Amino acid sequence: MESFTAGLISLEDALQKMLAQISPLNESERLSIYAAAGRITAAPVVSPLDVPPFDNSAMDGYAVRLADLASGEPLPVAGKAFAGQPFSGEWPTGTTVRIMTGAPIPAGTEAVVMQEETVTEGERIRFTAPVSAGQNIRRAGEDIRCGDSVLDAGVRLGPAELPLIASLGVGEVDVVRRLRVALFSTGDELQPVGEPLQAGQIYDTNRFTVRLMLDKLGCEVIDLGIIRDDPEALRAAFVRADSEADLVISSGGVSVGEADYTKAMLDELGEITFWKLAIKPGKPFAFGRLSHSWFCGLPGNPVSAAVTFYQLVQPLLAKLSGQQSPALPPRQRARAGEYLKKTPGRLDFQRGIVRRSADGELQVVSTGNQGSHVFSSFSQANCFIVLERDRGNVNPGEWVEIEPFTALLGG
Ligand code: AMP
Ligand code: MG
Repeated sequence: MESFTAGLISLEDALQKMLAQISPLNESERLSIYAAAGRITAAPVVSPLDVPPFDNSAMDGYAVRLADLASGEPLPVAGKAFAGQPFSGEWPTGTTVRIMTGAPIPAGTEAVVMQEETVTEGERIRFTAPVSAGQNIRRAGEDIRCGDSVLDAGVRLGPAELPLIASLGVGEVDVVRRLRVALFSTGDELQPVGEPLQAGQIYDTNRFTVRLMLDKLGCEVIDLGIIRDDPEALRAAFVRADSEADLVISSGGVSVGEADYTKAMLDELGEITFWKLAIKPGKPFAFGRLSHSWFCGLPGNPVSAAVTFYQLVQPLLAKLSGQQSPALPPRQRARAGEYLKKTPGRLDFQRGIVRRSADGELQVVSTGNQGSHVFSSFSQANCFIVLERDRGNVNPGEWVEIEPFTALLGG
C-alpha cells in the first residue's frame, strides 16, 4: 500500500498550489440585467435610491395621528390611500385615512392600525387595541439606503441577486468578461458522437461532459475536437488553444502509456506539473502555464475527467473569474445506509444517493459500480460520498461525509 500511494499529492495541496499561482482576470463588460444571469459582478452594485423609496403602510388598515385617538371616540374617514394612488388633499383633524399595504402614508401619519384592530360603526371607525407611535409603518430607506453597496464584486448573479438589482431600477451591471476555455480530447480510439464506431473505438465522452459544464458555468468554449495521438497534431492543437484561450483543457494522455505524448509536448510548450493525485477516481492530472494561458490536463477515464473537472477545474475557474463565494457546497454528515468498499490510500469521491430518513437523519447509499469508466454512477447519484484518505471499508451505520451535487451535476 505504501509504495502504491507514495508520491501522491493530496487534493488540498494540489488546489492550494494551483490557486496560489493564478490571479483573477481583470477585464469587465457592462451588460443588461436580462443578459447577466450566471455572470460574476466585476464591481460592487450600489443602490441609486432608498428602498422603500417612501414611508408606506405595512398593512391594510387606517392611518392615524395619535392625538386624534386620545378621546377614544370613533373617527370619520377622510379618504383613501392605495398603493400607486397616494391620498391627496386635506386631512382634517379628528379623522382617519383608509390605507392599503404599500400605499404612501399621508403626511402627518404617526401610526397605521391594522384593519383587524378596528370596527366600523356606521360611517366611523373605532379602534379596539392600543396604538403605538410608528406601528405598521415601513420607513423610507429601511431596507437599503441610497449609496449602499447591495452586492460585492465577485458574486455570481442568479435568482437571488438579479431581482435585487431590478428592484433598484438598475438596468445594467458590470460583470467579469466571460472566460475563454479551449477544449480538446486526445486519443486514437475516440470517435465523435454521430459517427459509426470502428473496431477498438469508443465515443468521446469527456469533451461532451466538460463542454456542458463550461456552458453551465458561463464560459465561452472553443471546441477543438478530437486530437489524434500524434505529436504534430497535438502541438498544433496546444499552440492554437493557447493563442485563443484563458484556459486550455485536454483530456487523456496524461498517464504513462506509450501513446501519451501530452507530457513531452507540454515540456516543450510550457511549465506543466504532472500530479498523481491522492483521489479516486482521478489520479493523473496536470496543471501549469502555457505561453498565454493556463492548462489543465484531465485524465481519460470519463468519471475521472468529470470528478477532476468538478473538484479542481471548477475552483480554478471561480478564482480566474474573481468569484468570491466557494465554488462547491459545504460537506455534510450522513449515515452510511450500507457497506461501502474503500481501500486506504486515496480520498474517494464515490457517487451516492442521499435521502433524509424517517427520523430526520441523512442516510446515503452507493450507486453501485464505482469504476472510473462507469458514467451511469453519476446519473443516478445526487451527491459525492467523500471518504477520507486513510479510511478503510465503511460499515452500515457509520458516519461519512457527503457533498451534495450542485446544479453543474444536476443536483
Ligand atoms: P488515457 O489517459 O489517454 O490513457 O485514457 C485512459 C482511458 O480513458 C482509456 O481507456 C481511454 O480510452 C479512455 N478515454 C480517454 N479519453 C476519453 C474520452 N474523451 N471519452 C471517453 N473515454 C476516454
Ligand atoms: Mg489516450
